[in-house]
Amino acid sequence: MTAQELQKAVLRHLELSLGKDLAHATVYDIRMSLTLAVRDQVIAPWFESTRKTYAAQSKRVYYLSMEFLIGRLLEDAVNNLGLKQTAQEALDALGFDLTQVIADEPDAALGNGGLGRLAACFLDSMSTIGCPGMGYGIRYEHGLFRQSFHDGVQIEEPEDWLRQPHGWEFARPEAVERIGFGGTVEAHDGRMRWSPADAVLAKAHDTPIIGWQGQWANTLRLWGAEPIQAFDLEAFNRGDFVGAAEQEAFARTISRVLYPDDTNGEGKELRLKQEYFFTAASLRDILRRFLSEHDDLELLPQKVAIQLNDTHPAIAGPELIRILHDEHGLEFDHAMALARNTLSFTNHTLLPEALERWPQALMARVLPRHLQIIARIEEAFLAAQPESPVRILEDGDVRMGELSFIMAHRVNGVSALHTGLVKSTVFAQLHRTFPDRIVNQTNGVTPRRWVLGANPRLSALITDRIGPGWVDDLEQLGALEPHVEDAGFMADYAASKAGNKADLAAWIADTTGIAVDPAAMFDVQIKRIHEYKRQHLNILETIALWQDMRANPRAGWVPRVKIFGGKAAPGYVRAKEIIRLINDVARVINADPVTGDLLKVVYPANYNVSMAEKLIPASDLSEQISTAGKEASGTGNMKFALNGALTIGTLDGANVEIREHVGAENFFLFGMTAEEVVARREDPQHQAKAIAASPRLAGALKGIADGTFSDGDGARYAALLADLRGHDYFTICADFDSYWNCQRQVDAAFADPARWMRMAALNTARSGWFSSDRTIRGYMADVWDITPLI
Ligand SMILES: *Cc1c(COP(=O)(O)O)cnc(C)c1O
Repeated sequence: MTAQELQKAVLRHLELSLGKDLAHATVYDIRMSLTLAVRDQVIAPWFESTRKTYAAQSKRVYYLSMEFLIGRLLEDAVNNLGLKQTAQEALDALGFDLTQVIADEPDAALGNGGLGRLAACFLDSMSTIGCPGMGYGIRYEHGLFRQSFHDGVQIEEPEDWLRQPHGWEFARPEAVERIGFGGTVEAHDGRMRWSPADAVLAKAHDTPIIGWQGQWANTLRLWGAEPIQAFDLEAFNRGDFVGAAEQEAFARTISRVLYPDDTNGEGKELRLKQEYFFTAASLRDILRRFLSEHDDLELLPQKVAIQLNDTHPAIAGPELIRILHDEHGLEFDHAMALARNTLSFTNHTLLPEALERWPQALMARVLPRHLQIIARIEEAFLAAQPESPVRILEDGDVRMGELSFIMAHRVNGVSALHTGLVKSTVFAQLHRTFPDRIVNQTNGVTPRRWVLGANPRLSALITDRIGPGWVDDLEQLGALEPHVEDAGFMADYAASKAGNKADLAAWIADTTGIAVDPAAMFDVQIKRIHEYKRQHLNILETIALWQDMRANPRAGWVPRVKIFGGKAAPGYVRAKEIIRLINDVARVINADPVTGDLLKVVYPANYNVSMAEKLIPASDLSEQISTAGKEASGTGNMKFALNGALTIGTLDGANVEIREHVGAENFFLFGMTAEEVVARREDPQHQAKAIAASPRLAGALKGIADGTFSDGDGARYAALLADLRGHDYFTICADFDSYWNCQRQVDAAFADPARWMRMAALNTARSGWFSSDRTIRGYMADVWDITPLI
């Protein structure tokens, strides 16, 4: 497609789809017109992919995920179709700037963090590889809340990405499924029949996901909930307007909001209904498609792979059995075997509070037939494994982790370390019973978004030296390694980082009003705010550094900009205290003339995918400092390493594998190992001893306690301090000195720019393994048993 053709297509959509004359067109109008014009280019490969899948009678993968943290789609699509230059020229001719038009698209924030972003990267990789499949999720009307700060305190406001039409999706009013809740179960002619009391309609909305170079496109199908009957006319005519709309209100509530908590098992009835809603709708859709091609249910595991992204869709096991047994009349054990051979499950966390449990009483009320089926699953399991101490039903709860494990033929962890811990901790008993079931698939990120799209300077440099093949074969980055000896390459590499940093400095000035020196080290921690991720370790080190700098301002300090980004779950009090503390510390430090440009702290509000795309390419240092044993994998860590930021990190999650790939000498390691953390906690005085041994840590804690950062209000952080001094489960104190010392090694390395840039370039050259294309190929080979159709 030429720029002229694209320009004509944009103008046609501007007039015919938006009803606007160019003379009155806004950025929004042009963005929508360009979106529709680009979407037109996706249709042919999309249909072709479907045709090929049917023709090959291929197995398909269905990726069920409660979250898809997609971000913007326009730039990805333009890049994947090779239309970047073309689009720029087309818009130039119309008097618009492509960058500005791209930035007009709201982020689709249908996820909380890593788990949802992983699902989005996987969609891109499946389409790039030609793995036939679909993503299934919920079309939340309101994605993750919008964050702002008021006096440093997090404020949450509803996000409304659907206020403007969503240009990428196709609504499918004909693709609806009726989803029931509650009601009764009765035996009928030897079969159990569930008669739900309430029901809603699940309506499909499809977004095509185009792969690299437009060779393949899969579908993301998101379900929106609608009432069976729009409203109760009789009640309306009686004058009962509220009652007339009740059905509609109930239905719409189900797909209204994303639960803004990715780590706590939510004990909310609505959340259970959301989980069942999208899982049941997806399964019916999957079976309808399967039965249109095959008439033998025996073939199900050969033609269908269903991946459960964490336990949120775990009700898929009982629901699939219900359909096969209650509706199709298969023997229970037979139905269970077919379901198990079709399902596989990804575990994402070892945090005990994050393993979902549902009260049996609630399950009995909302999904009475499923609770019976779960009891039979447990019975069948115990009949086969009479010695096993494992129970799905325990203490009045349904344990969704155990249910998912027992109903899956493969269970995977998301990094080598995490998979080992899954085997030795959460699922140790089940692993003993099924030693072949747990496999590892270390996470990855898509290089199309996280390098090509986010970092055009670096991408151009890479392509200039090693050609364009790296974009869908990321291990080709290894070919950069010899160039590290080339002064010309290193100068260009440094210039690309400097350019990104200058852009970010301008953006920071614009959004926060804080002037930062682009020559300073950009030290970045962006992720959900959580105690295990230890943003408070970082801010304590920041305080200690500031105190040392003030005491001795001419000691040759390496200037730093500490950048934070991230949201706290609205009900997570401690995480919100940490946010306030960071903002309080930032206010005091940024106003200090003694330290001036030596130290700045910035915390732009409302971290999301688009902000990550801005920050990561401009980062020097990547903070991956979780308490060892707590971060399952991380994917932010991979984005940073690829973009040439050096990691300061613990031996946790995928940090371990990143360090192995980039080389220990190009990674700043500190802190206790997972085993050492467990051992240290045995000593109830571990935090007191650490504080007593570290005047710096004691000084930083004292600075918080005496109100230095809270206008003299010593009580503001009393609870946080009491926790650190009294319990400190996340071992902030015990790791503090190790972290501090490691940061000084970071300073020394940064003070030698040639050395630093060489380490950075080696991170880029050696991180190609962390592509989600590699991860998806692993799932295809080890879990799904599917071969690519490209
Ligand atoms: C990559 C990403 C995450 C995950 O980051 P971690 O550091 O692995 O927790 C979360 N949110 C957004 C917006 C991301 O892009």
